[in-house]
Amino acid sequence: MSFVPALAFDAVHHAYGRTTALAGVSLAIRPGEVVALLGPSGCGKTTLLRIAAGLERPSRGRVSAGDRPLAGDGIFVQPEKRGIGLMFQDYALFPHLDVAANLAFGLAGWPEGIVRATVADLLARIGLTGRERAYPHMLSGGEQQRVALARAMAPRPAVLLMDEPFSNLDQRLRRGMRSETIGLLRATGAAALMVTHDPDDAMAVADRIALMRGGRIVQVGTPEEVWHRPVDRWAAAFFADLEEMPARVRNGRAETPLGSFAAPGLADGSALVCLRRDAFDLAAADPEFAATVLSARFIGEHRTVRLAIDGLERPVDTHVDAKHALEVGGRVAVGIDRSQAFVFAEEECDG
Ligand code: ATP
Repeated sequence: MSFVPALAFDAVHHAYGRTTALAGVSLAIRPGEVVALLGPSGCGKTTLLRIAAGLERPSRGRVSAGDRPLAGDGIFVQPEKRGIGLMFQDYALFPHLDVAANLAFGLAGWPEGIVRATVADLLARIGLTGRERAYPHMLSGGEQQRVALARAMAPRPAVLLMDEPFSNLDQRLRRGMRSETIGLLRATGAAALMVTHDPDDAMAVADRIALMRGGRIVQVGTPEEVWHRPVDRWAAAFFADLEEMPARVRNGRAETPLGSFAAPGLADGSALVCLRRDAFDLAAADPEFAATVLSARFIGEHRTVRLAIDGLERPVDTHVDAKHALEVGGRVAVGIDRSQAFVFAEEECDG
């Protein structure tokens, strides 16, 4: 490792009584990097975040920030001594303090002039200049969320921990809040670890995604890497629905009713070919198959389409640009984008 991580976990285990929440997690976050901890409910995301915050002591393993050990080997640094910003659901804004006082809360002991300038700068960054005297109940949910982000960032922590920061916001506010969060993190150079169960949040915000399952990290990579090179079927399916077809591998190719797919390194035998819905291309220049449209539904930017492809036993779902008019019962030509296909060996198919 050629950098000193802003935050690092080394073989962290954690159990609540007999429940194993973390089964050996190692992860290093670079200075200024945003990492999303992504996974289904109960996989251990929140536990790892709470361990980083110092709200939980790991059963085994080590946690450090920069050169400084925080937990493990008999060391335990209290949460308030870690210099880490927290944006957690349980840390709602203080209802009896106005916006300015909420923002200034973590700045106790700073010279008054610097506190005032910091608060004014943060208010401008989150678009709430002029609202410093408002109390939390006078703000919308989205505004409260922005104040919570700014409050966590006010003391300029090198690391920010965020627990599902966008989960209570509607789609439009979510998009705005995601870009404000990235903007504030980039402006301050802070590293961040964000827990989310939503692949869209992770893709939109993170430099790298750590995909968790059953108390372990199963894959770490950039959004492009985890999307294009999932480690197994489960990882592929976590990001988007898949159409799956049993296949036989022979000489490095997986044979299916939709033709053959490259299966480099796979032994001869049974396998599974998984196709993302985008793989079925109704506008392809070189269509390979004919299909009947079973249903088509307009949903704004797209039309969702169910197709019966000639030679396939089960219908497949895909979507097309909404400009593409389709008639139910009509015949269409379908191309297959093979870059959206993954071939997994049989033993990975139960993941
Ligand atoms: P979610 O997305 O639902 O919040 P998560 O991925 O954050 O889930 P954790 O909250 O870390 O998962 O929980 C991991 C495991 O530990 C789960 O099996 C959970 O039931 C268990 N667990 C979490 N907190 C406690 C606790 N305080 N006492 C006992 N078991 C707990």
